[in-house]
Amino acid sequence: MNDTLADTDFRRARYLPSWPRPLGYRNARLSAEAGAGPDWESPTSWQTVPVIEAIFFDGDQTLWDFETLMRRALARTLAELRALRPGDATSGLNVEDMIFDRTVVAAELNGTGVTLEALRQAAFARTLERTGKPDPAMASQLNERYLHWRFIDVPLYPDVLPALALLGERYQLGLLSNGNGYPERSGLAGVFSAVVFSEQHGIEKPDRRLFNIAAAEVGLRADQLVMVGDSLPNDAQGACDAGWQGVWLNRGQQSPTELSATHAITSLEDLPALLERLT
Ligand SMILES: [Mg+2]
Repeated sequence: MNDTLADTDFRRARYLPSWPRPLGYRNARLSAEAGAGPDWESPTSWQTVPVIEAIFFDGDQTLWDFETLMRRALARTLAELRALRPGDATSGLNVEDMIFDRTVVAAELNGTGVTLEALRQAAFARTLERTGKPDPAMASQLNERYLHWRFIDVPLYPDVLPALALLGERYQLGLLSNGNGYPERSGLAGVFSAVVFSEQHGIEKPDRRLFNIAAAEVGLRADQLVMVGDSLPNDAQGACDAGWQGVWLNRGQQSPTELSATHAITSLEDLPALLERLT
């Protein structure tokens, strides 16, 4: 009966939080009004309505400015190297050289399963070779210093903490990263109920298997999950391909034309309103 449907719909609405409503609710309500929706009197029918339950975030350039952090840590490490090994060989080095070495070593070790920390150490070894004085022990020492600086004053974007605090009241929050920015060392201890790093599983976003692993971590189906990240192919499109909702956080990159994420925002401030609209 339509009256029963409307009454039940109304009662259910009263017991839902005013904001944000479960995302599947709006569609279900509209479908019900059109006479094609679930039977609200049937728990089985209601339970089949997909409702967003968890939001996963990328880390680098989504929650924190890794590029700035990495360059700052390299510059401080280089200053320490110059103090340890004064001379033309080290004074002639710059951060761009170290980034170049890391890029080259990453290409050489691609597919070997090397961890990001081991990769960074191999890059320092390459930089020392560049100075004419190969020194594996010094490379290890530089890596330790880099990791020290790497987690000093992690520059969270200003919209991060307010957004996570608000969304955490309604959703499970997760981190799904191809990097190695540990939340507890990045000013975000205790925020995420699930943390998934690609290097722990040997596969990277946008591989849908990594999204499946994240879904299993929170015990939810793909249609109950949203992924938010700065990379259109890795985060937003990858999520869509895995059956999630994908949100591209475009903090100023150029608009691509070859891919189309389901949703796009320019700040995490826009995320709560988007989640309310999503169906
Ligand atoms: Mg990123």
